[in-house]
Amino acid sequence: MSVGSELLDRYEHAVLGVFGRPALVLDHGEGAWVWDVDGRRYLDLLGGIAVNALGHNHPALVAAVSKQAGELVHISNFFTSRAQIALAERLLTLADAPAGSAVFFANSGAEANEAAIKLARRTGRPGLVALEGAFHGRTTGALALTHKVAYREPFEPLLPGVTHVPPGDLDALDAAITEETGALFLEPILGEAGVVPLEAAYLRGAREITASRGALLIVDEIQTGVGRTGAWFDHQRAGIVPDAMTLAKGLGGGVPIGALVAFGSAVATSLTPGQHGTTFGGNPLAAATALAVLDTIENEGLLAHATAVGEYLARRVEGLGHPLVAGVRGRGLLRAIVLTEPVAPAVAALAREAGFLVNPVAPDALRLAPPLVVTTADLDLFVDALPALLDAAAESEGH
Ligand SMILES: *Cc1c(COP(=O)(O)O)cnc(C)c1O
Repeated sequence: MSVGSELLDRYEHAVLGVFGRPALVLDHGEGAWVWDVDGRRYLDLLGGIAVNALGHNHPALVAAVSKQAGELVHISNFFTSRAQIALAERLLTLADAPAGSAVFFANSGAEANEAAIKLARRTGRPGLVALEGAFHGRTTGALALTHKVAYREPFEPLLPGVTHVPPGDLDALDAAITEETGALFLEPILGEAGVVPLEAAYLRGAREITASRGALLIVDEIQTGVGRTGAWFDHQRAGIVPDAMTLAKGLGGGVPIGALVAFGSAVATSLTPGQHGTTFGGNPLAAATALAVLDTIENEGLLAHATAVGEYLARRVEGLGHPLVAGVRGRGLLRAIVLTEPVAPAVAALAREAGFLVNPVAPDALRLAPPLVVTTADLDLFVDALPALLDAAAESEGH
């Protein structure tokens, strides 16, 4: 028996089963590569689900964690740190946030969205609107905004007053946003729905409709933000200014952190002292690490790199002309290879055996969200292997 399968047996007797049996027990990593406990090497094309922006064992991240761990790890929010203040200032600058804007730090995406739901509640209007296919997290508030029935139903009744509308349909949005709507939540690219981008014109329309009715526009950039799509924040391509933005995944490069950016003083002061809080949120370790992530993205030119290698990947996959490939969706390094048959789980399993980690985000879509430091040479290895993986999957699934 392999070291991995023995450890996975222990896992199944000790770790709560919500994730099923994990595919691998991983040991260490370097750049876009990880090794399992049996010494096999994999190209990490999922990046911890769009989290490991700098890849594994990046010297800047290791240095930031090590240095901060030797100074202060945690201090509570009765106190603050240089790192927390600098990170808030940096995020406001990168977000082009107007004067009076402010940041609340949390530990995860769901928690950032919970804080955003509280902002929406402070409008005094109880309704929330989200998109069909949306994923906003698993805590019970964020879960009410998440669309997938299988995630929601076992826990109903959830937060009331949530309406879901089809993405891309401004008429449906116009009908759903009323004087009772506190906020519209949307992801500029719907990640868990299968990497489905919203048009810039839709984002601008959503901004106009929410503004005209006095509802907040809350952009969930938890998966798309922090350089993932080639911009600091994906909504910036549409030239819109939201009322709030939530961040998590890539922000800490793997160290847990979430953030809510409230745009403008009216929104930012709508939560007053005592109305929200967190024990860990924004602690010095997480803040110093996030600052190192942002510095490194800037110093290594990773926004332009994500754009260039993301386009290279899409061009190469589409250029295969393989009958099972319908196309490539997404932007930068948040991509889905869309298949003509529902064989994504089979392709992902075969890819793993061949040394590539990809995510079957939908039956017909493989999600790729590799570290932003991934190279075209890394991607070539995968694209060169892809036709044989697709053929083998089609054969095993009878397509
Ligand atoms: C991952 C994700 C979340 C939830 O983040 P967690 O850290 O898992 O709570 C929320 N919204 C989007 C768009 C996400 O991709």
